[in-house]
Amino acid sequence: MRRLRTTLDRIDRKGYGAYKDLAGSFEFDGFTLFIDRVQRDPFAPPSLIRVRTKGNRFDLSLFENPVRRVAFEDFLTRGVDRAVREVVRGDRGSGGSGRVEIQTPSQKILPRTSMVVARDFVEARMAVGLPARGRSVDGRAARAVLLEELPEVIGRVLTPESLDGDRARLHVETVEDANHLRGFLPSLGLVAFVADGAVLPRESGASDRPLGEGAVRFESPAPFRVGVELPNRGAVTGMGIPEGVTLIVGGGFHGKSTLLSALSWGVYDHVPGDGRELVVARPDAVKVRAEDGRSVAGVDISAMIGELPGGRSTGGFSTPNASGSTSQAANIAEALEVGTSLLLVDEDTSATNFMIRDERMRELVRREPITPFIDLVRPLHAAMGVSTIVVVGGVGDYLEVADRVILLEDYAASDATQRAREVVGRFPPRAPLEDKKMRRPKPRRLRASSLDLRRGKREAARGRGLHTVELGRERVDLSSVEQLAEAGQTEAAARIIGRFANGGDREIGGAVGEALAGVSGDGLEALGQFRGHPGEMSLPRAQEVAAVLNRFRGLAVNPET
Ligand code: ADP
Ligand code: MG
Repeated sequence: MRRLRTTLDRIDRKGYGAYKDLAGSFEFDGFTLFIDRVQRDPFAPPSLIRVRTKGNRFDLSLFENPVRRVAFEDFLTRGVDRAVREVVRGDRGSGGSGRVEIQTPSQKILPRTSMVVARDFVEARMAVGLPARGRSVDGRAARAVLLEELPEVIGRVLTPESLDGDRARLHVETVEDANHLRGFLPSLGLVAFVADGAVLPRESGASDRPLGEGAVRFESPAPFRVGVELPNRGAVTGMGIPEGVTLIVGGGFHGKSTLLSALSWGVYDHVPGDGRELVVARPDAVKVRAEDGRSVAGVDISAMIGELPGGRSTGGFSTPNASGSTSQAANIAEALEVGTSLLLVDEDTSATNFMIRDERMRELVRREPITPFIDLVRPLHAAMGVSTIVVVGGVGDYLEVADRVILLEDYAASDATQRAREVVGRFPPRAPLEDKKMRRPKPRRLRASSLDLRRGKREAARGRGLHTVELGRERVDLSSVEQLAEAGQTEAAARIIGRFANGGDREIGGAVGEALAGVSGDGLEALGQFRGHPGEMSLPRAQEVAAVLNRFRGLAVNPET
């Protein structure tokens, strides 16, 4: 600590570059400060630091298994984030002077690089804007940030004395329960579960927090009610959605998309108070939608879309500009390629001609390469064990192919399966389905050389916020990848894909799966860029890593023969 103070005094008012003398480690009372990377100037990305406590005196039960540890790390990250807001003044000169940051978590709880809780230490990874006056070192301000504010933040969060034990316990127990619940799904024959009392609607389209006033809590229709026993909460009841084909129907604005969206986020755990703590889905569930304009590289969509104009085959379909229907088919094929047991489809974001074609149109238009999704949902389940949950408001034909129908009225769910059967019986049946087969898309081999990461003199494979990845000179648009939860996942996905560039040609599904297995073995840390400091990353799913790769316009593949 004394050494840090004397160094700061010595470099005070010198050119900003003098800050590089800070690189290294400093002993404080109770913790070690590592300064891993020093920024070049006050306007550059902030300097990267780690704070490691001497010893870990937190109650072992808060981190005794991997699930609890991730939850407790999340809890402490949020604690640091809050304490920084309370303690750090920020704005201590030019550029990012005096700013202190830790990863900003979403409503989801994910493994992240921001915090490590180990047996014998706790480590917080942060970024600090080293203060400048103009372009010179402001030693006094730096002393205030590093020697006063930072220790205060650490004291408020990383010591057991200041811990709110009840809140911490609730945090880890909530996550543990959600994990168990998700784990129970297969043995119960379910693909998803929505607890009674859950709050599904969000504050607004721009906020992932729960809707406060006016939110109608979820109540399971009696026939779908399932009871489970959770390790911490004990007995819980809610709506179980079995495998097969499930329809969510209802009038406009009655809460259909909200329910489907909550299910799609059910692949992740949520913080206490989110409302969706006990809304879970199979971890490999994928929400698929139309995404016209996206690029597609050699994807086998032939099970869904036959020959295109000009005799173009769809066994290895490529386009820089997909249509609504071909993009949705590619999204499904890619989800199957990387692996999924549950597809979530909302008519709001689907291509109509991909979803359905009525008798009149079949009669008038004979040359139609698309097998509508309605004819594929049953074969998907029968032949491949892939279940589907579809939101429909407009197309009653779907009632014919559903195993069950959930009706939403004024946000209240009921079982409309029986009534749907009667309705189907009263109207002439839809022209008999052709006997459609569904099969897995042909696997593709990534051509590693197509991942050209050069960007000027450097190489780039990094996240830029939630919805953009920079790969070489290209910015990959991820705004239609609906299950990306936070920017840290985007960052980690970018780095994983960056590694593919230096690997050999590989089957895409296998490569992504193996990369994630590697990450769960070595930790997200291993993807880190700078010595010691891993940067800001959160664990993505294989599905999202593949989604980033698949949207890269430079991607080239060799079909597997
Ligand atoms: P739909 O897809 O059926 O047209 P949405 O799911 O988009 O309807 O919901 C319409 C509106 O109702 C949204 O503003 C949503 O936030 C709100 N909403 C959805 N579910 C609930 C609920 N359980 N309680 C209160 N408001 C809700
Ligand atoms: Mg809707």
